[in-house]
Amino acid sequence: MDLKKIGKFIAENRKKVGLSQESLAEKLDVSNRSVSKWERGICLPETAKMPELCRLFDITINDLFSGEIVDMKNNDKKLNENLLALAKEKEQKDKQLLTLEWVLGFLGLAAFLAMVFMCIPIADSNTPPAVAMFIVGFIIFMIAAFFALKIEQIAGYYQCAKCGHKHVPTFGAVFVAMHFGHTRHLRCPKCGKKSWQKKVL
Ligand SMILES: [Zn+2]
Repeated sequence: MDLKKIGKFIAENRKKVGLSQESLAEKLDVSNRSVSKWERGICLPETAKMPELCRLFDITINDLFSGEIVDMKNNDKKLNENLLALAKEKEQKDKQLLTLEWVLGFLGLAAFLAMVFMCIPIADSNTPPAVAMFIVGFIIFMIAAFFALKIEQIAGYYQCAKCGHKHVPTFGAVFVAMHFGHTRHLRCPKCGKKSWQKKVL
């Protein structure tokens, strides 16, 4: 997906229908900066805004993703290219998310251990501050663990070892499931069997 090309295409169409960046932003209920970012090819419009944007410009979503008016002859080819590009983008984002999960988990644990090591030497002589430090460390760890788990739940899918079905479990199911790294013991919503399900993107 060529963000620069899409950005130019948005700017062209905006001018064609006689709108300024400000008036387009107002119509779509986004900030001027958002429109400027789309047009400079920094990011895509949010998916929720795409249908209205396309309606204003009288173009299709396929045109928008292609950064040009796609003729009927090339429509299917372009559509396939765009779908593949979107899938690839999701895969990359999920990979980054899973890396972030490790970092979060590691930092949370490091903060907790640091607090524990700092409170042990003063535990006898200065009990209340030591307990307070331990609790703070534990809370930091729990917050990091919560976000790490939330990331693990939403990034990619879990694949059933029995039937191969891919699914996104609820946060509760992920929370209580036994795990080794990203492999969790979960129930498959399709075949109903429990198995060690690997994280797949
Ligand atoms: Zn299954």
